[in-house]
Amino acid sequence: MRNRMDAPYLREFQDRVARQAAAFPGDFFLAAPQRTPAVALTFDDGPDAACTPRLLDLLRGAGARATFFVVGVRARRYPEMVRRMKAEGHEIGAHGWVHQRMDLMGASTFATHVEQSQALLSEISGALPVLFRPPYGSLGDDDVAVLAKRKIRVVNWSVDSFDWREGYDDPERITKTVLDLAHPGAIILFHCSQEHDATLRALPRIIDTLRRRGYALRAVSELLPPPRSAPRNLPPPVRGSSSIER
Ligand SMILES: [Zn+2]
Repeated sequence: MRNRMDAPYLREFQDRVARQAAAFPGDFFLAAPQRTPAVALTFDDGPDAACTPRLLDLLRGAGARATFFVVGVRARRYPEMVRRMKAEGHEIGAHGWVHQRMDLMGASTFATHVEQSQALLSEISGALPVLFRPPYGSLGDDDVAVLAKRKIRVVNWSVDSFDWREGYDDPERITKTVLDLAHPGAIILFHCSQEHDATLRALPRIIDTLRRRGYALRAVSELLPPPRSAPRNLPPPVRGSSSIER
């Protein structure tokens, strides 16, 4: 498994998600299963008014498509950023209603948070998200099953930039971590919220180098196999409505 680190909590985490990916094929992904020469850049924890617009400018300048996993309450605060992500061709997935460990919530709180965030994101972007990344990558097996029933696929990552980790506020270190570990079908984890300046500074070289190595930059859904059945789409959007299909 990639990014195996010395910290015991990371080893335990990686063992758990590897088990979940094996237990829920088609519903829980760490990487794209096919060996296409493409990777997905993913950005968690937005939107905000500081990092998100700079990141969108950077991606537009590079002509690169990415996937954003957005937090419900932050999307509610900065809906124009979500609309801009969508308008500029990026994919939008959900990252919880608030940024909390969802595997530690009760089942009904979990369901409510999923529901609220799906409803809000579909209202803002006009499309029901089909991808979900839990805060901290942590979900219980029951939670994965609940999402699978709703045709929402869980997407963690195979390459962690570690831009969240102490000591990684250095663009060189983030760049080296990602480029050392990149592989065909990689889903690469980054963060974009107030304090991720180093991520933004690392990205131009990461993007250039990945492309020089022959990788295309794709949205996560473009790399995953087609869902076993069609995602449940919303009925045509009704202005001001936040109802979603069950
Ligand atoms: Zn997060």
